[in-house]
Amino acid sequence: MLQLFIPLGFLGIVYRQIKYALADMDLVFKLLEREPEIVDRPDAKPLRLSEGGIRFEQVDFHYQPERKILHGLEFAIEPGQKIAVVGHSGAGKSTLARLLFRFYDVTGGRILIDGQDLRDLTQASLRAAIGIVPQDTVLFNDSIRFNLAYGRPGATFQEIERAAEMAHIRAFIESLPDGWETVVGERGLKLSGGEKQRVAIARAILKRPRILIFDEATSSLDSHTEQAIQQTLSEVAEDHTTLVIAHRLSTVVDADRILVMEQGRIREQGTHRALLEAGGHYASMWELQKREGVEALP
Ligand code: ADP
Ligand code: MG
Repeated sequence: MLQLFIPLGFLGIVYRQIKYALADMDLVFKLLEREPEIVDRPDAKPLRLSEGGIRFEQVDFHYQPERKILHGLEFAIEPGQKIAVVGHSGAGKSTLARLLFRFYDVTGGRILIDGQDLRDLTQASLRAAIGIVPQDTVLFNDSIRFNLAYGRPGATFQEIERAAEMAHIRAFIESLPDGWETVVGERGLKLSGGEKQRVAIARAILKRPRILIFDEATSSLDSHTEQAIQQTLSEVAEDHTTLVIAHRLSTVVDADRILVMEQGRIREQGTHRALLEAGGHYASMWELQKREGVEALP
């Protein structure tokens, strides 16, 4: 028993300490799970963020050496541009987002933000510049107010309320018996996938980072809520460098460029219009989704 208690207690202490030290808490658990640990170089420098341009140069990646996941990815996101990534499940889309957030380091090539290799930067400065709405949001066993507020420590309650409103989660929160003080997470009220996604969106809205990553950020929402939030996300992303990983193609038609990924490679890229005209993989995905959309109508 003792052996069980010591590590758990220790984790509790670590958790409470980092809880207030980091801006992006989704990380904590991912960091604890992650192998090998990404450690700042002794001479790591803070990111000098100017416009927020991103460049992937011949990026290779594997989780295990025997299974390569990304093969020579090469693309740029100009400052303020919105780039969408689409492709089937398992294509490597989330991996790409994880590399940009530096959950892992590339195994070949490099990723640059404003000309600086991510591996030369402090993780704290990198993550302060990026807001991520991950595919699966981890909530802390803490009040829903805390869970939103850590998007930006120091935010006023009015700002938090406003972010919740923009993410269409405020009315839900206020309907709970304990309202904003309701404890959520594994040991508290368990939120649905869609509710967690809206909490993550509210965090990103509150944080207002230069660079935004949405990884299937609205995939658990019903299509009505998704449409309403999509509008908000477009407004939030305005003038921000944005990487949108999408499962529903209708959400990416306005992207500056769409990358179509397949088995860890970029198979096609272009605007929605150009890709439709090319009549390739994207065009057939679009046709398929359009047909499914029609069939799904009552
Ligand atoms: P997508 O987001 O396009 O569905 P992912 O980037 O999540 O794809 O995954 C790409 C591939 O990497 C998949 O084959 C997946 O099984 C594998 N993968 C993802 N995460 C891990 C991990 N932590 N360890 C080992 N393999 C992983
Ligand atoms: Mg994914």
